[in-house]
Amino acid sequence: MNGLHELLHTVGMVDPGYKTLKNDPKATGEVVDVMNLVRRQLGLAQRMQYAPVSTPSGRMYVPFENGPSYIPPKSYGGSIVVR
Ligand SMILES: [Zn+2]
Repeated sequence: MNGLHELLHTVGMVDPGYKTLKNDPKATGEVVDVMNLVRRQLGLAQRMQYAPVSTPSGRMYVPFENGPSYIPPKSYGGSIVVR
């Protein structure tokens, strides 16, 4: 699924930017919306928002309708905090 998400960027689709996320932290954006369409067709859980969420302990996850999908710490270096 991550590869298909990135492939959609190659045809000009974008994720929500900083301003959008500041006003609406739960924004999905056009790529996540298309990916959620694919997920629906495959019977998979929907991604609830574009931005990852940081736990109090610093772990990061992407919220899906069936629960969090934790991001391995090596992929973000622990330096990104989205509240
Ligand atoms: Zn993206």
